[in-house]
Amino acid sequence: MTEVFNFCAGPAMLPKAVMTQAQNEFINWNNTGSSVMELSHRSSIYMAMAAEAEADLRDLMAIPDNYKVLFCHGGGRGQFSAVPLNLLPQGKSADYIVNGSWSRDAAYVHYCPNETVDGIEINDIPETYGVPLVADMSSTILSHEIDVTKFGLIYAGAQKNIGPSGLTIVVVREDLLGNAQLATPCIMNYETSADNDSMYNTPPTYAWYLAGLVFKWLKELGGVKAIAKINKAKAELLYQAIDSNSFYQNNIEQQYRSKMNIPFWLVDESLNEKFLTQAEQQGLMALKGHRIVGGMRASVYNAMPIEGVEALVDFMQKFASENSL
Ligand code: PMP
Repeated sequence: MTEVFNFCAGPAMLPKAVMTQAQNEFINWNNTGSSVMELSHRSSIYMAMAAEAEADLRDLMAIPDNYKVLFCHGGGRGQFSAVPLNLLPQGKSADYIVNGSWSRDAAYVHYCPNETVDGIEINDIPETYGVPLVADMSSTILSHEIDVTKFGLIYAGAQKNIGPSGLTIVVVREDLLGNAQLATPCIMNYETSADNDSMYNTPPTYAWYLAGLVFKWLKELGGVKAIAKINKAKAELLYQAIDSNSFYQNNIEQQYRSKMNIPFWLVDESLNEKFLTQAEQQGLMALKGHRIVGGMRASVYNAMPIEGVEALVDFMQKFASENSL
């Protein structure tokens, strides 16, 4: 079978080494004779694994002790509700950066450093003058180093850079806990989650385990600093292929170009279907752009090896020369 590179924006490809390990221990994890997904989340062996995964994530992101790490359900959209329920007192307002402007009287300021759909990345962390900064890092977490202390809260759905869908990571500064609105459902309450080590209800146990494997994989690779270098090289290679060929286009200003989600357009859009079909025949999957923006999008998260980007670039060059007038 042709080697497949999956450019899906999420759920996205996972490191092959991780998938192989998961396969090997699928029905007999740690000599328990059971799959990890069949074990109680309260068993000592599961809890030890869960704690190790958290410790590895703390290590990878240099998360200080005054931050809680929560393993939640509900995806990114779950957090769209959980954040205001926990952080926004009745009668107060919050600011959401959409076009880069915000005011200072807010309970918190929310922004999305990497916009998955449009392929736009904001590298500078906004200065909020003491107002807690909340970031949706669903499509950028662990892809490059960040200073966690600049944030009040970070959240990320796992299905792009961490593991399978069904798990959401929340990193929250302790002083922001304890102010949830009365109407907050208990499974969305950060304080309840923190007090119960994310096990107030049954967590997504298999996704947590797989995330733990991904964290170990990343640590072995040299951590976030090392993967950031690879991610930079991958993005440069692909943008170079787009910019150097008038057959393709990406009009996003250089400094705001995402290193994780790279949209591009064929100047002759009537060739879109042909491009996608032939790409799939080469094992280059899920390149169709988001339905809102059209065109193509290559998501090149941590698990995408540089060989995948090289294969895409080769294909793009060949397709352009075969289809140019
Ligand atoms: N935030 C970002 C940046 C995303 O890219 C997505 C999904 N693509 C979401 C939130 C929504 O995540 P979910 O589907 O897990 O609710």
